Amino acid sequence: MTLISFDIDGTMVFGSPPGTITLDAVRRAKKLGCIVGSASDRPISNQIQLWAEHDVEVDFVSLKHRLDEIKDRFDATRHVHIGDTEMDKYFAAQAGFDFYFVHELPDEIIEGWPAAEPRQL
Ligand SMILES: [Mg+2]
Repeated sequence: MTLISFDIDGTMVFGSPPGTITLDAVRRAKKLGCIVGSASDRPISNQIQLWAEHDVEVDFVSLKHRLDEIKDRFDATRHVHIGDTEMDKYFAAQAGFDFYFVHELPDEIIEGWPAAEPRQL
C-alpha cells in the first residue's frame, strides 16, 4: 500500500499560491487504496479545515517536518511526498519518503494513478 503526502501551498489547487494537484487526483488516489493526506507548514487545524472545505476525506494531516510520525502511524509499503520546494525534498528525504516535485511529476507515480491531469496535446 502506498501513502501519499501532499504539500499544500504551491502544490494543491487550493494552496496559496495554487499548485496543479487537483481534488480529483487526490480522490482517485484514495479510491485506488492509497493512504492520502497533507504535510504542510500550515497549522494542523487549518489543514483539516481546508480539506473539509473541499470535501475530501484525508487519512492524515501533518506538519512537514513530522513526516516520520506519519510513516510510523500507517502500515504502508511505499511513502511518497509531493511538494514544490527544496524544503519538501529535504523533509521527505529525512523521513525516508520518495519525493517528487509537483512540476516534474512522472506520468504515473503509482500504477493507475496519473497525479497530473492529462496534458493538452
Ligand atoms: Mg509548498
